[in-house]
Amino acid sequence: MDIQANISLKKFNTFGIDAHARYFSRFKTVEELHDLLDLRKSIVDLSSFSVLGGGSNILFTKNYDGLILKNELKGIKKIKEDEHHVYVQAGAGENWHQFVLYCIENNLAGIENLSLIPGNVGASPMQNIGAYGVEIKDVFAYLEAYSIKEKVLHTFSLNDCELGYRDSIFKRKYKNEFIITSVTYRLNKQPHFNVSYGAIKDELEKMKVKELSIKSISQAVINIRSSKLPDPAKIGNAGSFFKNPTVSRSFFETLKNKFPGIVGYDVHNGDIKLAAGWLIEQCGWKGFRKGDAGCYDKQALVLVNYGTATGDEIYNLSEDILQSVKEKFGVKLEREVNIF
Ligand code: FAD
Ligand code: NAP
Repeated sequence: MDIQANISLKKFNTFGIDAHARYFSRFKTVEELHDLLDLRKSIVDLSSFSVLGGGSNILFTKNYDGLILKNELKGIKKIKEDEHHVYVQAGAGENWHQFVLYCIENNLAGIENLSLIPGNVGASPMQNIGAYGVEIKDVFAYLEAYSIKEKVLHTFSLNDCELGYRDSIFKRKYKNEFIITSVTYRLNKQPHFNVSYGAIKDELEKMKVKELSIKSISQAVINIRSSKLPDPAKIGNAGSFFKNPTVSRSFFETLKNKFPGIVGYDVHNGDIKLAAGWLIEQCGWKGFRKGDAGCYDKQALVLVNYGTATGDEIYNLSEDILQSVKEKFGVKLEREVNIF
């Protein structure tokens, strides 16, 4: 376990931003994490450290003047099972998509719609990752997290985590207070297929799938995502840069009168979720490029780094987009990506 100084973070964030960390280290066990946090006190002040998973939901806008801790806690194990469920625990440093494939291989259902999301297991509850009508909270059992103050592991139940739309207690009240070390998922023995998103149905038809399975749904999701989203290995990005905003039904009706094509979906409390990508596209940003910072031409919600953009350039572009959506629609977008 060693602490390196002045390390480029370019290969540790999917945006490919060439920011530097003053200090950088990795941990493979909870004991190593514990020792690193102790050591850290002698070299950097208490507040300036951050834990990193796959770096697929962050934007570095400047060099990081502290210690970056790369989480490499591994291991997948079955904890218990009952009539309907199998509880599987995964180390926070396990790759998310590899974990999805493990579940599919073992006939464990529930996360097939979340195939090909980049990043690690440990970040999955951070923003309650979601796609194609499924969220982590649907299969979440509990997680373990290391308390930085108390230096012990805590267990958090589903209720404790306050998982919401791209949100959890770890993004708010407990920000920088806990490091998630493992997540336990409650997977289904019998699948409940969710193909409510039109794109999945269309893709399954294209694939000529006669009998639904978790494997075919996963493959459909992989096909759609590969055709629509930029591969971070080729074009730097962190997925959707903004969240989909929610507005009241009456405001939605007002918008609909003015912009008949506006895309909105009912959420359970009667409010309407707007497709942020549509709003951004209507403001003329889709395919926009300034230097190496751009708005992806197949999905306006995704901001991209074509090579040498700085984090600041990406951030400034996001600010311009935010302003123009506010001016045209009176809707304030919120960033989903974590800004460092
Ligand atoms: P990182 O980017 O490393 O970290 C994200 C935040 O969590 C940081 O603040 C970090 O400090 C914190 N963090 C990370 N690990 C821990 C830990 N163990 N304990 C405490 N804090 C931690 N997201 C979706 O929800 N749905 C999608 O469909 C989706 N599609 C995407 C597609 C693409 C092409 C890309 C690039 C991104 C996409 N994302 C999506 C966003 C991203 O992949 C997810 O949010 C993912 O869970 C981030 O994981 P990570 O390990 O890369 O987190
Ligand atoms: P899409 O299918 O073109 O849909 C556009 C938006 O409309 C999505 O944001 C989605 O909301 C919403 N939507 C579509 N069909 C819906 C339905 N039947 N019910 C409720 N809402 C519906 O979106 P896309 O960009 O190709 O992404 C597909 C899925 O992958 C989405 O779920 C999206 O969230 C997820 N994704 C997330 C990221 C990320 O970084 N967070 C990146 C890429 C893709 P929701 O976003 O709420 O689902």
